[in-house]
Amino acid sequence: MTEATRVLVLNSGSSSVKYQLLDMPGGTRLATGLVERIGERSARLVHTPSGGERRERGGPFPDHRAALRAAAEELAADGTGFDSPALAAVGHRVVHGGDRFTGPVRVDDRVIAEIEALVPLAPLHNPGNLEGIRTAGALSPGVPQVAVFDTAFHTTMPEYAWRYAIDVRTADEHRVRRYGAHGTSHAYVSRRTAELLGRAPEDVNVIVLHLGNGCSAAAVAGGRCVDTSMGMTPLEGLVMGTRSGDIDPAVVLHLARNAGMSVDAIDALLNRRSGLLGLCGDNDMREVTRRAGDGDEAARLALDVYAHRLRKYVGAYTAVLGRVDAVAFTAGVGENSAPVRAAALAGLGGLGLVVDPDLNTAPGRGPRFISPQYASVAVAVVPTDEELEIAGQAYDLVST
Ligand code: AMP
Repeated sequence: MTEATRVLVLNSGSSSVKYQLLDMPGGTRLATGLVERIGERSARLVHTPSGGERRERGGPFPDHRAALRAAAEELAADGTGFDSPALAAVGHRVVHGGDRFTGPVRVDDRVIAEIEALVPLAPLHNPGNLEGIRTAGALSPGVPQVAVFDTAFHTTMPEYAWRYAIDVRTADEHRVRRYGAHGTSHAYVSRRTAELLGRAPEDVNVIVLHLGNGCSAAAVAGGRCVDTSMGMTPLEGLVMGTRSGDIDPAVVLHLARNAGMSVDAIDALLNRRSGLLGLCGDNDMREVTRRAGDGDEAARLALDVYAHRLRKYVGAYTAVLGRVDAVAFTAGVGENSAPVRAAALAGLGGLGLVVDPDLNTAPGRGPRFISPQYASVAVAVVPTDEELEIAGQAYDLVST
């Protein structure tokens, strides 16, 4: 009998599905793929088996079912179809698990109903995630479907960290509280940082800075999240590619009352036309740093606002944790931008935080230190791998 060691990780959005097939527990990647623009005429699938030729095909993929069926055919051509006995689980990324899901769960009708009930808290994401769950379940009825929630890692926050200081009854009635996001990444990176330090996660306090298109910070004490910068939605906290992060909530009231803006217009402003894009017209950090280097004032200011916010959070989370063993940078910007890493910790020598310019700019891909030997707090670059984390959590759940 074939041993079931493979996990298919699905990240199903509203109009795209990303997938990866991994062999566990080692985490060897066997294939990656993407179906994009589902429902549009230009829909296409790109499938890349590890060590093999990339294959592309056009639609039509009118819905998620057609998209996943095409992905299943590509995977089957490489030997691991949705009905393969080698498949231990399908692991689904689910953006919002509310306060209900504190870890990965096997999907059943009750779980689906609960994810559905959380749609008002993640209207852009949970419906696409559910589509993926329902479709994969139908295509692979004999394979356990596991939901891994982006919020789960943050459910260990104490109430004084997740509760907003507003009327308790109103907050509770409408489920208004800090939930956080990027939890799968924070979980993975904080554990990998402990490994890099050669210590057990339980013994280590880490500040994780996940800086991608979306950005969030997490304070992780002994492997458990105690605070995070994203809030009820992924809008709060750090300055991001197109999102404002923290602002005075009265700005919303002011714009509604005095600028005649609708709720939808303010939503679009804060989520899609703010952050780096709002400040300087570019949301890609490569472009922003290049322009700043060429003396562009708006790009310089955008970088300053971005770095200032990061420094404030590092200071705040140092206070929250009491003792910090490491600060870890991850995601597209955190892993690749030496200037942003340097700016984020500039002037924080008093907190024991120092970035070594040579280590910071040295080429490298894996987890590595960028602080000098003598520094009391380690600063590290730790590439995130959300798919591997989802596969690991799903595999552990079904094999125990
Ligand atoms: P992610 O959301 O983690 O995929 O990160 C995507 C973002 O990372 C992009 O929008 C870029 O702003 C940023 N990024 C990727 N590569 C680099 C780089 N070499 N230098 C600076 N920023 C980068």
